[in-house]
Amino acid sequence: MRIGALVTAVGVLLAALAAEALAASDVRSVRLWRAPDNTRLVFDLSGPVQHSVFTLSAPDRIVIDVTGAKLATSLDQLSLANTPITGVRSAQRSAEELRVVIDLSAPVSPKSFTLAPNQQYGHRLVVDLFDQGSAPPAAQTPSVAASAPPVPVTPTQPPPKLTPVPNGKRDIVVAIDAGHGGEDPGALSPVKGQYEKNVTLAIARELQRQINAEKGFRGELVRTGDYFIPLRKRTEIARKKGADLFVSIHADAAPRSSAFGASVYALSERGATSETARWLADAENQSDLIGGAGNVSLDDKDKMLAGVLLDLSMTASLSSSLNVGQKVLSNMGNITPLHKRRVEQAGFMVLKSPDIPSILVETGFISNPNEAKKLHTASHQQALARSITTGVKQFFHENPPPGTYVAWLRDEGKIAAGPREHVVASGESLALIAQRYQISLAALRSANKLNGDVIKVGQTLQIPATSLAAQ
Ligand SMILES: [Zn+2]
Repeated sequence: MRIGALVTAVGVLLAALAAEALAASDVRSVRLWRAPDNTRLVFDLSGPVQHSVFTLSAPDRIVIDVTGAKLATSLDQLSLANTPITGVRSAQRSAEELRVVIDLSAPVSPKSFTLAPNQQYGHRLVVDLFDQGSAPPAAQTPSVAASAPPVPVTPTQPPPKLTPVPNGKRDIVVAIDAGHGGEDPGALSPVKGQYEKNVTLAIARELQRQINAEKGFRGELVRTGDYFIPLRKRTEIARKKGADLFVSIHADAAPRSSAFGASVYALSERGATSETARWLADAENQSDLIGGAGNVSLDDKDKMLAGVLLDLSMTASLSSSLNVGQKVLSNMGNITPLHKRRVEQAGFMVLKSPDIPSILVETGFISNPNEAKKLHTASHQQALARSITTGVKQFFHENPPPGTYVAWLRDEGKIAAGPREHVVASGESLALIAQRYQISLAALRSANKLNGDVIKVGQTLQIPATSLAAQ
């Protein structure tokens, strides 16, 4: 009996090993994401596979042959609206060969790659279908180095903002980047079915609405829906839109669920200013590995190149980034607790845009149940967007790019500019100073917490910025 049982057990084991060796990774699910210029299909697999992709025309089709796989899910539930895909069919050509056929209403350029498991997902096969007429898919080819470094080394494609119209009155463009998206959900919320990617998009849309309501400003969304954009593509989109400022919106998680409060980050080339900053930078940078832009060796190469370029041109925009970041942070402090009172610096890849001041706003910790609840409410999203808008406006009223409507306003003396602090000189009265800066006596008093009009020579006064609304 014992020997018989052993033989049976060995037999079962051998059969199991044979089945394993004979392949058959299961396709456990298929996900579809539509971006403005491409459609991404992600096959979730139980193990590694080999694959090939080819196109057929008349009618247009894409054929994906997956060796070592069988379909363990239905393809019928995919939402194909707004995609060039009219249907997805499959056939098991043999025990190990799965063929998936994608019927199309228009020709597309396919690009495919496999991804190894990470914290969030197992083995994946990713097939990107680029709409024809859209930019050629270059993410994984050596030309990535040409598209990735943010500085126009060879001035073939100068960003629009480098050609200001003399005495023009163009809008100041704020690129608003909703973090994560598509199969990269970002941090998980304790609120059921909610993810960071949804919160960031909701706040980004509200921020765009508020910025567009300000004369002389225009908000441009980097991500407009639920799809993935590689980190470097985000700064590229911002540059194409002629951004004067790049604001990336996040709502993140910390290992401790008790962590709370908002933070603002600017890029640091020399390392993070705090452990939290370092931890977050790692988590945010992993987005590309989750989303599939990751090719580590290429990444390292353009990091080196970017490093050289950053050294040349980073300083100016870094001080602008810190300046605008501090203003945003101060305003956020009026409506939500702050995690840190000053702008922190970390090596976020999404901020590596030397010619555009860039900040990353952590609107709160979505891992904190109380903060998560607030982050999902429209009123809190509006308040957060308002505080960011105010900070951005303050920054540009003091530092309007030449050729903009706001620069014109400043030149016409219609907004307060110049020093934000005033050291009282002999013979000056509070009323005189208020008049000089074109602000009300009451505003000057309240900015300096003065009860009366008594000031001393040598005293430093804070000069509040006047808002356009007050004109
Ligand atoms: Zn994030």
